[in-house]
Amino acid sequence: MGNLFKNIKKSNGRAMYLLPIFALFFIQCNGQTKSEMKNNNPYYDTEAKGKLQLDNEKLKDILPSDVYHIAREKGTERPYTSEYNNHSEKGKYHCAVCGNKLFESDAKFDSSCGWPSFFAPATKESMIYLEDNTHGMQRIEVQCGRCETHLGHIFNDGPPPTGKRYCINGKVIMFEDEKENK
Ligand SMILES: [Zn+2]
Repeated sequence: MGNLFKNIKKSNGRAMYLLPIFALFFIQCNGQTKSEMKNNNPYYDTEAKGKLQLDNEKLKDILPSDVYHIAREKGTERPYTSEYNNHSEKGKYHCAVCGNKLFESDAKFDSSCGWPSFFAPATKESMIYLEDNTHGMQRIEVQCGRCETHLGHIFNDGPPPTGKRYCINGKVIMFEDEKENK
């Protein structure tokens, strides 16, 4: 019994010691939090309408590099890394670069594909669709309808009523809960 207690105490001590290292790792991997990213971005506006021409050189200074890479260089985040994968709060998902409304939370479903998935966009203006024949695949790419940020791809294995799966990089979308949406 005495030994067991000693072991627990020892392992707790070790855990405490490792905490700052984990914290540092977390901060470095994730860069800015979503709300910091929003506050640092003068283009982010959930009410604005119409097309937005963005200067990529300016965006490079505004967005965290991993977000910039996905948004403007068509990168893909690692699967199962988004905080939105298992996120089921009621609200809306906006473009993280310009604030354009992209998806209602009611259109989100659990696809277990590793990326946040939706079966329909919020509005007709939410996104634009482009043929993507890179990486030896024929896919439909989706971009933000306002600022042309790369969001992800659409597949035909989604649930009813659309049968579509909008497979979206969590880093380039921003959840706004219902209180924040007027
Ligand atoms: Zn946008």
